[in-house]
Amino acid sequence: MNNYFVILAAGKSKRFNKKIPKQFFNYQNKEIIDHSIEKSLNSKLFKNILIVTNNLKHLKKKKYPKSISIIKGGKERSDSSLKALKYLKRYKPKNVFIHDAARPNFSIKLLKNIAKNLKKNKAVVPIINSKDTIKYKTQNQIFNLNRNNLLLTQTPQAFRFKELYKVAKDHKDKVTDEATLFINKDFKIKFIPGEKSNNKITYIDDIKTPKTFYGIGFDIHKLVKNKKLYLGGVKIPFHSGLEGHSDGDVILHAIIDSILGAIRKKDIGTYFPNTKKFKNIRSAKMLKPIIFDLNKSDLIINNLDINLICQKPRVSKYRDKIIKSVSKLTGLNENQINLKGKTVEKLGLIGKEKAVACETIISITKYD
Ligand code: ZN
Repeated sequence: MNNYFVILAAGKSKRFNKKIPKQFFNYQNKEIIDHSIEKSLNSKLFKNILIVTNNLKHLKKKKYPKSISIIKGGKERSDSSLKALKYLKRYKPKNVFIHDAARPNFSIKLLKNIAKNLKKNKAVVPIINSKDTIKYKTQNQIFNLNRNNLLLTQTPQAFRFKELYKVAKDHKDKVTDEATLFINKDFKIKFIPGEKSNNKITYIDDIKTPKTFYGIGFDIHKLVKNKKLYLGGVKIPFHSGLEGHSDGDVILHAIIDSILGAIRKKDIGTYFPNTKKFKNIRSAKMLKPIIFDLNKSDLIINNLDINLICQKPRVSKYRDKIIKSVSKLTGLNENQINLKGKTVEKLGLIGKEKAVACETIISITKYD
């Protein structure tokens, strides 16, 4: 095992728009660069791992194992790569893997596959096909390129050290990967399938992760004669209706409160106080602006679970109707909504059909 792993982390991340270079940005609970370090260590394929960086101070503070060396990088990626090769020459490596720190998502399986292919080849490079249709622009013209002929090269790329050193040390122009050097010289490369997930982190958007929040809602209203009963926006034939400033729809009120809870925007009373303006308002009308605001802000409801707590009416009789109605009002699919009926063994005011209560829980994800 005379393999060396080089991690290029000297980039300044001009396109990343943050003060710290992207390779030191936090991504899935650790710095982006640490994903590559850990995987190369865990693969047990390498004698030494060499990090090339212009942030020596930052990296030296971290306690890496002895098999990790750190050297200062150059101005361009190709300068840093050459510096690494010159540094490694003294160890007489057989093979060298070159990797960009901005690709934290490669798998150890890919590393092993590269190593396996390197036994019979002098250069092994993972590639994937282009998902996008690409145009080629010259000064005066734009050309169409056939997507099927386009190969996107990834890192890690692995080479017989001697061969790579020879072509790299004489090369003057900057290159963005080592495969370019081999291709320029018409040297043979073994291309192997890369990994779609092994994408390069270039923009801050590439590492944004969605956040999920939960909200709980509860409501109870008194049942009174001579009022219509509304549950989940559905008019239900019953001996009484729910008393309240509005139509008293406990399901919709609890839904509103759970949404407001998940997005941390106080409660239903803040938006619909007991004023003349909202007297006898239908609850569907209260839910509408809340859903409208939600849809405006990249917030997606994942699911909604409802407990309707009453002795009567029997929920099973109206379940489908209520779910259909809530689906229409919230824009959720019916299979994202669950409704459970809970009787209270004739206990207390709810058991005596003097009140109806409802609790809901909702899960909302923010994509930004
Ligand atoms: Zn209410």
